[in-house]
Amino acid sequence: MTPSPSPPGPVLRLGDVAALRAQVRAWRAAGEGVALVPTMGALHEGHLSLVRRAQARCRRVVVSIFVNPTQFGPNEDFSRYPRVLEADLALLAEVGADAAFLPEVATMYPPGFATTVTVAGLTEVLCGPLRPGHFAGVATVVTKLLLQGLPDRALFGEKDFQQLQVIRRAARDLDIPVAIEGAPTFREADGLAMSSRNRYLSAEERRVAPVMHAVLQQVAEAVRGGGETAPALAQGRAALEAAGFSPVQYLSVNDAESLAPLDRVEGPARVLAAAYLGRTRLIDNVAV
Ligand code: AMP
Repeated sequence: MTPSPSPPGPVLRLGDVAALRAQVRAWRAAGEGVALVPTMGALHEGHLSLVRRAQARCRRVVVSIFVNPTQFGPNEDFSRYPRVLEADLALLAEVGADAAFLPEVATMYPPGFATTVTVAGLTEVLCGPLRPGHFAGVATVVTKLLLQGLPDRALFGEKDFQQLQVIRRAARDLDIPVAIEGAPTFREADGLAMSSRNRYLSAEERRVAPVMHAVLQQVAEAVRGGGETAPALAQGRAALEAAGFSPVQYLSVNDAESLAPLDRVEGPARVLAAAYLGRTRLIDNVAV
């Protein structure tokens, strides 16, 4: 049976781990399922689609908002990442989320913090080598959030497909008792995957941005029958460059589970891309 979500209304603000844990425990003791949706804020319809999906699974939904410093590289956008807490809380109230977990950096990383979760293999391809330390930052903060809240379930977007696989692996390997669920990418009408970083795009870049999704779909179509991936990838890369993406960091067909690059598609696979448009780095992926 689908639980009925909470009606629109004020969202409970939880600032520390004890408050989060006590609230989740109270809901669970009352027989209510609890889902967690981790985010970095600057919420858009993609995030809200995760909240709605979570509400279809669990009576109570907690959204965490934390711009995690450890997953940003030294030359990345940590300091300029959009922080719009009041607007985020208004959106969460509208959609009927029950609580927002809003930890400070010092709450997540108190003095003396020294533990990191690293996932081998999955993080050695695609974004891994391009963003050293990124997935360790993600795996560490998500592990903490899952253990802090101990919800029944946590939801993550396929938009960040490699991140989703890394989180699944870490949760499995560390016996974290939380079901990890992936959710489809929510897109603009023209195909652009919604992202908090889309607000960095100029009008001209925004016009070009949907080409990434179109190219991913063309490659997926071309490799579906089991032919070689190389020609489709070369053509796709050329199309991205011609549209103005520079540099194209990768355009690749990979196994959907192991993320190993594929010369030919035999089982479930994904086409993934990362490329810059001006100063903004966009990533996206589609199923084959
Ligand atoms: P972020 O705030 O960018 O860290 O994203 C928080 C969560 O929302 C992650 O699980 C993302 O994969 C997910 N997410 C971001 N954009 C989208 C989207 N367009 N569709 C679905 N999920 C998304």
